[in-house]
Amino acid sequence: MLFIFIAVVYLVVFHLSFVMFVWSYWKTIFTSPASPSDEFCLSKSDKEQYEKEERPESQQDILRRAAKDLPIYTTTASRAIRYCDRCQLIKPDRCHHCSACDLCVLKMDHHCPWVNNCVGFSNYKFFLLFLLYSLLYCLFVAATVLQYFIKFWTNDLPDSHAKFHVLFLFFVAAMFFISILSLFSYHCWLVSKNRSTIEAFRAPTFRNGPDKNGFSLGCSKNLREVFGDEKKYWLLPVFTSLGDGCNFPTRLVIMDPEQLTVSSQNEPPKSSGASQPFPARPLSESQNRLLDNESQWVEGGSEEENVKSGAKKHVIVSLES
Ligand SMILES: [Zn+2]
Ligand SMILES: [Zn+2]
Repeated sequence: MLFIFIAVVYLVVFHLSFVMFVWSYWKTIFTSPASPSDEFCLSKSDKEQYEKEERPESQQDILRRAAKDLPIYTTTASRAIRYCDRCQLIKPDRCHHCSACDLCVLKMDHHCPWVNNCVGFSNYKFFLLFLLYSLLYCLFVAATVLQYFIKFWTNDLPDSHAKFHVLFLFFVAAMFFISILSLFSYHCWLVSKNRSTIEAFRAPTFRNGPDKNGFSLGCSKNLREVFGDEKKYWLLPVFTSLGDGCNFPTRLVIMDPEQLTVSSQNEPPKSSGASQPFPARPLSESQNRLLDNESQWVEGGSEEENVKSGAKKHVIVSLES
């Protein structure tokens, strides 16, 4: 009876991990990278004007005007509006152009040769689950082969070609397990910080300058940004990430000697303490919009910086320290 029970558990775990592994891998490969919507493209007249214009400053003026109502909070390091000449669009926050796919990818993480696809907003959750189930599958294979692997070294296996299969299987499973474990651990850390791989190497520039934690809302909220609000879907390769890939909650901190105002999203202002209300007032229009305050723009050669408010979502943040 015990034997049957163990056999059933073995088969269920084996098949389940394999099915989930294939399912998440399939979704990672075949989910097309999400591109910015049409609202980020320049209008025909703006495009003509932009192409006709030779001075970078004037081009930035055109972009600044076009980006005025878009939900953009980040700029280039030199504080210019991020524009993709190739796709001819204003890049949303966290969007980057992938030269391999030749398109702008929302919340681009990296282009993965293992899945021959861009990992970004549309499939980042699938990619993480793919790593997780690959890990479990490798662990399962290595664990079940282990006893025969030991027998190989103690010469207890029948002398046939099969014994080298055991050796090969164990080494491959163990090797993939170790390499995937390091990659998965790194991405778990990135998720907890709400950072993409690209942002881990180059911090996004906000109105107050580069801020590697600019999109971090605290570990729990960061996790929900990728996996969604409903925990029952977290381990399934179905899309549950929050947002639209263009508009992200940010943590714009306005430093004030007496108050610390942060911006977050979709949340009513909170109180940090019973007697002292958390100064989570919404950013004023001028604070919120990158483009409203021209004097804040540093005209530097061909680039300038802006911080915009696209204010589709209201952003008021709470600090989780
Ligand atoms: Zn592009
Ligand atoms: Zn790509």
